[in-house]
Amino acid sequence: MELTGRSIIGSKRGEASEPKLHGYNPATNENLEPGYHFADAAEVDAAAQLANKAFASFSQTSGAQRAKFLRTIASNIEALGDTLITRATQETGLPEGRIRTETGRTCGQLRLFAGMVEEGSWVDARIDHADPNRTPIPKPDVRSMHRPIGPVVVFGASNFPLAFSVAGGDTASAFAAGNPVVVKAHHAHPGTSELVGLAVSDAVRQCELHEGVFSLLYGSGNEVGTALVKHPLIKAGGFTGSRSGGRALYDAATSRPEPIPFYAEMSSVNPVVILPGALLARSEQLATGLQASVTLGAGQFCTNPGLVFLPAGSETDAFVSRLGELLSETAEQTMLTPGIRASYQTGVASRTSQAGVAAVMKKSAEASCAVAPALFTTDAAGYLANASLSEEIFGPTTLVVTYENEEQLIDLMRSLEGQLTATIHGTEEELSANRALLEALETKAGRLLFNGFPTGVEVCHAMVHGGPYPATSDGRSTSVGTRAIYRFTRQVCFQSFPDAALPDELKEGNPLGISRLVDGKLSR
Ligand code: NAP
Repeated sequence: MELTGRSIIGSKRGEASEPKLHGYNPATNENLEPGYHFADAAEVDAAAQLANKAFASFSQTSGAQRAKFLRTIASNIEALGDTLITRATQETGLPEGRIRTETGRTCGQLRLFAGMVEEGSWVDARIDHADPNRTPIPKPDVRSMHRPIGPVVVFGASNFPLAFSVAGGDTASAFAAGNPVVVKAHHAHPGTSELVGLAVSDAVRQCELHEGVFSLLYGSGNEVGTALVKHPLIKAGGFTGSRSGGRALYDAATSRPEPIPFYAEMSSVNPVVILPGALLARSEQLATGLQASVTLGAGQFCTNPGLVFLPAGSETDAFVSRLGELLSETAEQTMLTPGIRASYQTGVASRTSQAGVAAVMKKSAEASCAVAPALFTTDAAGYLANASLSEEIFGPTTLVVTYENEEQLIDLMRSLEGQLTATIHGTEEELSANRALLEALETKAGRLLFNGFPTGVEVCHAMVHGGPYPATSDGRSTSVGTRAIYRFTRQVCFQSFPDAALPDELKEGNPLGISRLVDGKLSR
């Protein structure tokens, strides 16, 4: 398949202006062809107008129709085969195995949403029958369900070029609910974005949907991204990236004349608490597990464990020394972009110079876009006195903070910002004796783990990949798992409607056979 370097605007391609962006291979330090043309203001408007037109019909499609669409996208992505794998590997420096796994995850999540909307109960249909004889006033017939919100803008993420990008979780959940999507391509993988974008627009055509159901625009975040978020016909947004970018776009979305929900997943340091019993019982296993989690994907995971809390003492000294050894034996890794590498190096250099922080091992990398892991330690007082130590350094590094006692550990937990995950390693007895620890962590994180590591997010119905600010802009939401669909819906209530005019989900005879809450009782 030949790449064109142009945006996809419904069934048409963007204008060819002066190309402003090339894919870049961070492993070889080479630009990749073709050059990519940035969308102009008229093209941003055209994509939003088309999406708005498409909403009229796409929002009325049945769950079965949308399931077919989602499955067609998955099949089209699979049909790209090695063309996609090669391009994504080149543009990200990620190993081929990782890209293959991520392709599987992306298609799997499209099919997971397909199954859910085909079954149909996700709409949370509720029916309260009328009671004309109720006194002192009659009760009306009231029925409600989730309906799609309107055109959604999605920002592809650099660190998951497939699973959080053009046809990733944000797009899949927005489509599943019945919303057209306009994607702002991430500059770090333009060719991968075009290949997947073509797979999606082919699916739009194959499923005979309105062309405006999908558009993909190239351009800078500050221009094209902000213009999309501010466009009056866009009704919601999804984002994964930096805190500064997410916050700027969230502010743009909420300061519009008509504010819209904007779901930004930003930064998280994913604290890991190791209790004394776990350290005594399995120090080596914890050190190898942590090393693997900190360095997975060159540490470029939103769930990377960036803070580890350990009891002060000789066992922890030995643990830190072993972890340092394991990290120093880890081969240097290629980062996604020179910019992300530069941020990592700046963060590591700054941490090295902080008072009270010791660098246990810190070697420099040789290849142009590569980095080496870095390990730091400090104590509770040093940590609490320096707010910069709680900030995310995106890459393969972690900071060990030692605590003297349980009370100090709880103080440390209460000082944390909102997180995607929080992990406790301990014995079951320690867990039940530390209710205050669990309670403190529950207020801070969207996902709590026991005796595991936070990297590796299962895509399933029960997953929560969200958390209080700044992990996300809305701590009530998740961007992974089927509950992600509710970010892009509105609840709509129909009062005293004739049966024939109701959506099938709310009709008296339940023609779709879905689970519903009828007069307060679950029924099917
Ligand atoms: P980013 O800089 O936040 O960019 C993500 C997207 O948002 C890009 O499309 C970008 O446009 C756009 N954008 C950024 N700032 C914007 C602004 N002020 N206004 C409008 N749009 C804006 O993220 P990145 O490029 O993926 O990586 C940069 C840093 O983000 C990393 O070093 C890391 O610290 C952090 N990050 C965190 C996570 C996480 O999951 N926690 C994931 C990825 C990155 P352009 O294409 O014009 O840049």
